[in-house]
Amino acid sequence: MIRYKSTRGSQNAKSSAQAIIRGIAEDRGLYVPDAFPALSKAPEDMLDCDYRQVAAAVLPAFLSDYTQEELRACIESAYDSKFEAPEVVPVVKAGNAWFLELYHGKTAAFKDMALSILPYLLTTAMKKEKEESKIVILTATSGDTGKAALEGFADVAGTEIVVFYPAGGVSQVQERQMVTQEGANTHVFGIRGNFDDAQTGVKRIFGDEACAAELLKMNCKLSSANSINIGRLVPQVAYYVWAYVQLLKQGVLKAGQPMNVVVPTGNFGNILAAYYAKQMGIPIAKFICASNENKVLTDFINTGVYDISGRQFHVTNSPSMDILISSNLERLLYHLSGNDGAQVKALMEGLEKDKKYQVSDKIKEGLKDFYGGFASEAQTKEAIGQLYRGEGYLMDTHTAVAYKVYQEYREATKDETPAVIASTASAYKFAEAVTAAIGLPEFRNGFDAISALNAATGVRVPKGLSNLEGRKVLHSGVVEKDGLWEAVRTSLK
Ligand SMILES: *Cc1c(COP(=O)(O)O)cnc(C)c1O
Repeated sequence: MIRYKSTRGSQNAKSSAQAIIRGIAEDRGLYVPDAFPALSKAPEDMLDCDYRQVAAAVLPAFLSDYTQEELRACIESAYDSKFEAPEVVPVVKAGNAWFLELYHGKTAAFKDMALSILPYLLTTAMKKEKEESKIVILTATSGDTGKAALEGFADVAGTEIVVFYPAGGVSQVQERQMVTQEGANTHVFGIRGNFDDAQTGVKRIFGDEACAAELLKMNCKLSSANSINIGRLVPQVAYYVWAYVQLLKQGVLKAGQPMNVVVPTGNFGNILAAYYAKQMGIPIAKFICASNENKVLTDFINTGVYDISGRQFHVTNSPSMDILISSNLERLLYHLSGNDGAQVKALMEGLEKDKKYQVSDKIKEGLKDFYGGFASEAQTKEAIGQLYRGEGYLMDTHTAVAYKVYQEYREATKDETPAVIASTASAYKFAEAVTAAIGLPEFRNGFDAISALNAATGVRVPKGLSNLEGRKVLHSGVVEKDGLWEAVRTSLK
């Protein structure tokens, strides 16, 4: 049985169901598996499996307190026809890489891969644990998590969901997706601050005993739909296994040969899932971590020093990666330190106090499997234009950051190991930047940009993004950075 421990050393191990309900550990650490399970089936034996079957070879290994039947029901409810691609996740060759298209779900970003299943995992966990409180999902979003979580949890019995996004810090399409969300249990607020402010504010509520006491009086408990929740991370492992199986199937690799992965990174959840896939037995040689101008991770991978002091926060055309404090890095530090919770706790306290920390030589050694690079906004647009003109393949801005960093990696290392690029969003979600990148006029209005992009490229507009402009705004609240708790409290009344 896999148990979940806190990255910050508290000895109070939990089952996966308990960890999913709680979201974050009582010492504010993140839950991590106490051992890495092996895949239940070799990749070369999964060539005929569909996406659901591959997920069924991964999830039970991590969520070992759920029954096979419980997980099968969760997987089948999640990965069904709400995904607009029949394969759920197509793997498409373009340029010198394979694109793992993770964005064919309801909200047109990769967050749907985990957030389509998290509500099922959570409600199943609540039944298993005889949890009678209402679970309040509290979420900070840089744009995509919020909508995917709202879609997943809307009108799910026994839950309320409250989302905070940086007002003015998300794309027009992202904002409209969230503020038009239906469902009696959904609550959405802009905050006057950036994503880090939203995430810090949410984490503060999680750590506040007075808030917990007041919630308990309302018969409520908090949980999280951010990638700090292990129930979000584990489903993401499945698509790296899927990617490897597809490369075997397409004859790109023979069983056992390694692939590289390239991940446009913000909170470090997606790339950490690739690391977990490797621990399960998928041969991954390099983890190429791509950042935008908020390149704290590039510098960290190159120096072993994580330093946010004096760093300016940039609002870029890949807003879902506009992040300086990457939460899930804490999990990698824990694993690379040899599960040393005391060491991780000290590093995280250093980050809070001094805005920086330096890792041990042992952790630095472990980071050698990672390559860090970044792309500017101009380079991002250039990459989109180049691949579209060259091959007619359309990338969104986040995926383009990864593509650009991958080109630089190839130049620098001459490494030709086949690489899978995590393709994290539909180009239509960031249509203003994408239209400009392929030589169409600049649009200030995201909805006009969607129409123009569709007219010029003929690429189908995802269902979730059509008619967005006409939908009624149902959430218009904007709060100050220190007003998050008040907003949660009044939402629950
Ligand atoms: C969330 C997001 C990312 C960053 O993923 P992390 O798991 O936070 O590193 C990248 N691209 C898009 C489109 C996203 O929505």
